[in-house]
Amino acid sequence: MTKHIFVTGGVVSGLGKGLTGSSLGRLLKARGLRVTMQKLDPYLNIDPGTMNPFEHGEVFVTDDGGETDLDLGHYERFIDENLTQDSNSTTGSIYSSVIAAERRGDYLGRTVQVIPHITDEIKKRITRLASDDVDVVITEVGGTVGDIEILPFLEAVRQFRLDVGRENVLYVHVTLVPFIGPSSEQKTKPTQHSVTELRSRGIQPDAIVCRSDDPISIDLRRKISSLCDVPLEGVVNAADASSLYEIPLVLHNEGLDTHVCKLLGLTDHVLDLEPWSQLVARVQAATTPVRIGVIGKYVSLPDAYLSVVEALNHAGIHHGAEIDLEWVQAEDAEGLLAAGRLRDLDGIVIPGGFGERGIEGKIAAAGYARDNDVPCLGLCLGMQVMTIEYARNALNLARANSTEFDTRTRHPVIDLMDSQRDVTDMGGTMRLGAYVAQLKSGSRVAEAYGEEVVSERHRHRYEFNPRYRKRFEQSDLTLSGESPDGRLVEFIELENHPFWIGTQAHPEFKSRPDRPAPLFRTFVAAALERAAGRNPQLPDVDIPSADLASVDGDLTATEKS
Ligand code: GLN
Repeated sequence: MTKHIFVTGGVVSGLGKGLTGSSLGRLLKARGLRVTMQKLDPYLNIDPGTMNPFEHGEVFVTDDGGETDLDLGHYERFIDENLTQDSNSTTGSIYSSVIAAERRGDYLGRTVQVIPHITDEIKKRITRLASDDVDVVITEVGGTVGDIEILPFLEAVRQFRLDVGRENVLYVHVTLVPFIGPSSEQKTKPTQHSVTELRSRGIQPDAIVCRSDDPISIDLRRKISSLCDVPLEGVVNAADASSLYEIPLVLHNEGLDTHVCKLLGLTDHVLDLEPWSQLVARVQAATTPVRIGVIGKYVSLPDAYLSVVEALNHAGIHHGAEIDLEWVQAEDAEGLLAAGRLRDLDGIVIPGGFGERGIEGKIAAAGYARDNDVPCLGLCLGMQVMTIEYARNALNLARANSTEFDTRTRHPVIDLMDSQRDVTDMGGTMRLGAYVAQLKSGSRVAEAYGEEVVSERHRHRYEFNPRYRKRFEQSDLTLSGESPDGRLVEFIELENHPFWIGTQAHPEFKSRPDRPAPLFRTFVAAALERAAGRNPQLPDVDIPSADLASVDGDLTATEKS
């Protein structure tokens, strides 16, 4: 029988329920349990795919093409499982299924209501992740207890315990214990109120994870335990950790997994935290500074680039380097470059994006990197921008552009795929999910991956225009990866440059803390090379040979990481 853990949050949003759930998932996996995770989101969009990143941060893409909440990225990185779109349900998608069923006549003339029809649909979504191959499903309920929108979810989750048996369900509530400056005290009242609110919906938490800036005292824990009716060992303190990846160790030291396993009767599994502890030790030892500029449009909300940042961090951990991020507003990039203000960057990332704003700044950054031997990694829109830059300035195709930004350009080097021309529905209509690419043997990209057939996740409408293929092929820009039928360009790389590589995919989505995405790994290696060249005082970093593409592209043996 699959066990279910529900994670709810109280007091304020943004407490890191997703990271708490993911960390618990990691601790259960470290006991050999088979874990999967999902997120229930109480908003009306069918999925976050149509949302501006300023609204909700990055859209995380799954292998099967789901456009999902960024918490799924945390889940994948922590539990090291590839999830599917079934792991994210929104109020919008739930209502849409129920309303479609109503139109089909499935309810046989009955009145369709929030209870039981919406709650039944929510329970169906929860249950579909349970199978003989899964020991534990962790379900995060988005939003904050007390929100109007969250009520059907709490009701469904409450009923669920009765449906599948008390011993198979556990509720974890994440709250905040704030420090109030004037009285110099940490306060438990918000936690008490939040638990009262949860109980008013019929849910008694089995564990409370208290977020706080500084550790909370045993007396405060006793108080929370007694007032919230949760055994002392179920009151767990997650004080701020110095790195995300330490959170599982913090929660383990606090006894969360032991308490959870005891209550769920999962006691005959032996915990092996050694690999994760080693990872955390490597995170702590990653101190060689490397300055990476991210030229983006949504830089005032770094969550918009969460997986890119994490993939850079993973590469940093691999090389013992600490990524020092410089967020560069794309519209300002041209001015900053002209003023020499970006001269101390060791590498430049041009991430994905949509729309015209900031495009010329990104093109300028790609050109600056190309002219000045600065390592540059282009992701999706980033590859398109590099293609445009190269077309304009190396191939002399004046005013080359993507038809996304200039429908009348004389040189549409990036253009819509035929299948996208008549699309009017904005949801789920892009080229989405995992696609295989064939890499050119001997290319830098193939060396980085250590194989020639690779799969990465996509989310875009526009493509490299095959009409311009020949002109690029005659230059020193290599089209180093393409779709198996040879129609779509998936990777480009520049010869005679330390690292100027772009991909139509989003390799950041598959990066894991102990297995950095290959292109991020080699990009950070190249950036470290530049940092060491500019600052000989930096300690030597042991960079595997395959990560050190020499300037003439002559690579040595493939490193398997
Ligand atoms: N806007 C571009 C396209 O639709 C790139 C998308 C992206 O970077 N994810 O093709």
